[in-house]
Amino acid sequence: MTCGSVLLSVRGLRKEYPLRGGLLGRGRGLVRAVRGVSFAVEEGSALGLVGESGAGKSTIGRTLLRLEEPTEGEILFRGRDLSRLSMRELRPLRREMQIVFQDPFGSLNPRIPVGRAIREVLEVHRIVRGRAAREEAGNLLEVVGLKRADGERYPHEFSAGQRQRICIARALSLSPRFIVADEPVSALDMSNQAQIVNLLLALQEKLGLSYLLITHNLAVVRQIAGRLAVLYLGKIVEEGPTPDVFRAPLHPYTEALLAASPSRDPRARGRALLLSGEIPSSLRIPSGCPFHPRCPRAGEKCRAEIPREIAPGPSRRVSCHIHDGGTGPPLERRQGQAPRGPIPS
Ligand code: SF4
Repeated sequence: MTCGSVLLSVRGLRKEYPLRGGLLGRGRGLVRAVRGVSFAVEEGSALGLVGESGAGKSTIGRTLLRLEEPTEGEILFRGRDLSRLSMRELRPLRREMQIVFQDPFGSLNPRIPVGRAIREVLEVHRIVRGRAAREEAGNLLEVVGLKRADGERYPHEFSAGQRQRICIARALSLSPRFIVADEPVSALDMSNQAQIVNLLLALQEKLGLSYLLITHNLAVVRQIAGRLAVLYLGKIVEEGPTPDVFRAPLHPYTEALLAASPSRDPRARGRALLLSGEIPSSLRIPSGCPFHPRCPRAGEKCRAEIPREIAPGPSRRVSCHIHDGGTGPPLERRQGQAPRGPIPS
């Protein structure tokens, strides 16, 4: 596995959706799903992107592959800015970037045998045809731990875990270098989750793949991703090497996510925060630090000022006033708002 050189570099990525409504279809606001996100994925490595539903994780994944058009920002893949390429120019690079979705059943055509589904990808992209395509589809099924003969069966004849293997085999058919794995194990039971995690790790080792692993499952991130980025309301609030973030989270939101995860380091137990309330709408981003209405550590400065991103240690970054001069006087909260101070788990 070769780690070190940057395969994908994302800079200032934004994705906004105008919200229209009423009889005349007038603009009713702007959903700011991704608000200036920057990160890099090195060759042969995995970056975990975590956060609650509605944080913008899947939008980032889809935008990288131009399944959705970015509003602004650069997506540099092997040095070429995908956001500026025409669909024709994009096509050869898109082969190198594949996506695996959460719902393997929804991603497969129930009416065709799975071997044919893989063969069709090989033939559409003119990689191989006919007998050679059939042979290659069998090889790919074996690579993901299924039998060649399984190619004759239909999606409903497989378990959820086997269907996810088939989706991975189909993604591998174009020999990608980079895979967006969007909640790849969320629809699976614990034993299938472990098997898919092991498969992703084995493929990374064997094929030198790089992953962007999108998930809310911190246990999965811990096993697969060397680096971890935490997303809140369309922005990365903390990033760093996964073991360091687990050992010593810097952002109160990361702390709260880890507190809610069974995979957390028991040594972090004493600092546990509990997350209260729901993630606000991307239509109405709170003032100052967008996390302040839910943050037990918030001060007056948090309501007024957007925290800047700082680098408090090697390979780490965080956006929180605690690490940049303090939060100011405690935030006065109305009844029913999130409490202040550490809450024991
Ligand atoms: Fe909490 Fe303030 Fe830090 Fe935001 S800036 S995470 S509100 S302490």
